[in-house]
Amino acid sequence: MEVKRESTNEALNPFRIAQQQLDEAVDRLGLDDATHEMLRWPMKELKVTLPVRMDDGSCKIFHAFRVVYNTARGPAKGGIRWHPDETIDTVRALAAWMTWKTSVVDIPLGGGKGGIICNPKELTDTEKERLARAYIRAIASGLGVTKDVPAPDVYTTPQIMAWMMDEYEVLAGEKHPGVITGKPLSLGGSPGRDDATARGGIYVTREAARAYGTELEGETMVVQGFGNAGQNAAILGRELLGLKLIAASDSRGGVYNPKGIDVERLVRYKQDNGSLEGFPDTDPITNEELLELETTVLFPAALENVITGGNAAKIRCKISCELANGPTTPDADEILYDRGIIVLPDFLANAGGVTVSYFEHVQNTYNYYWSLGEVHRRLDEKMTMAFQSVHEASRQEKIPMRMAAYLVAVSRVAEACKMRGWV
Ligand code: NAD
Repeated sequence: MEVKRESTNEALNPFRIAQQQLDEAVDRLGLDDATHEMLRWPMKELKVTLPVRMDDGSCKIFHAFRVVYNTARGPAKGGIRWHPDETIDTVRALAAWMTWKTSVVDIPLGGGKGGIICNPKELTDTEKERLARAYIRAIASGLGVTKDVPAPDVYTTPQIMAWMMDEYEVLAGEKHPGVITGKPLSLGGSPGRDDATARGGIYVTREAARAYGTELEGETMVVQGFGNAGQNAAILGRELLGLKLIAASDSRGGVYNPKGIDVERLVRYKQDNGSLEGFPDTDPITNEELLELETTVLFPAALENVITGGNAAKIRCKISCELANGPTTPDADEILYDRGIIVLPDFLANAGGVTVSYFEHVQNTYNYYWSLGEVHRRLDEKMTMAFQSVHEASRQEKIPMRMAAYLVAVSRVAEACKMRGWV
């Protein structure tokens, strides 16, 4: 998965941004100082040093983290990233956002995140396995189905989750499949996890269209970032909402045909050719031009900071469904809101992934597995309820949906802290 890394510039420090977003929500909610301070910081941080034997016989030392941000609503939940630029602040910020994400979809989990500073592209499979097992040995005492449940994230895969689960079970001396999610189906993974993020985004788009009276059937969609989330959004946008794809892009640029593009053929073309360039019956289009196309739904599904103060006045979609994390800058948010564009904020719109991870955790705990249809039905129910809570807060307070999502999520976590007698 390609991901642009955060800048080391202190103003763009992701944890600082996460704290600022929280500060505004706390201010609007009128929470007391103790609750505010409690929610500004992770509850637990672990820094571990991992000696790992490499294939050439040498020993390499890796540095890694696990952060538990808040567990007032349930065990911590959050992925493990493997990246050369990983920092404790990135992990803290992502753990905070996981706390708000699990809260906004109202699943009984808290937020956490993990990271190993490494370049997975330079590691062999056997080195990856030893690193995965070393990480679990170092943090195992804090993990558990009732404590902290990791999952995959950037550059970590179902295979890595399988090694991690196995290591945990060896240490525990018994089976604990629910200790980690995003596992292969053969080891207790959930059906429906592969397209869950896009599917959740499609469900909230459908609800937003209903709430705002926007017609979708036969109308158009544009996808920026034709990867896992973007391709599934295009497939499901057509299947479930009747939308017609008119443009899509990847890191090398995009393709455009106002009469419509055959989604399945485009997916196959991308698989076969590695890019969208040269797809028949389309014109090339730049990523900048693509974002400014007139369309009913825009799916930013690539990177952060693509809709900015510089282009927000030229965006011509009716609904922007943020499958990517952080595609819209705060100044652009204001412009889009003033122009009446409906922005479905990232931690609501892309929460389908963690919701199906939660379903995996539940199925593992029951040791009883659901059908694909059951997973889809329950995901729809969760995403629809989450949209309705956020939309209601946005309408009542007359605020953009992003801040409304913060108010819903933060107030639930604050209430749980209070009921426990923590603050
Ligand atoms: P991916 O790597 O499968 O796809 C990303 C796509 O974006 C690739 O096709 C890449 O070529 C394209 N891209 C890269 N730079 C681009 C650019 N400058 N302009 C246009 N396209 C560009 O990743 P993914 O899993 O689909 O994730 C995409 C976004 O969704 C990320 O922000 C990720 O954090 C977010 N997200 C994904 C999930 C999930 O379950 N996959 C869950 C939550 C959030």
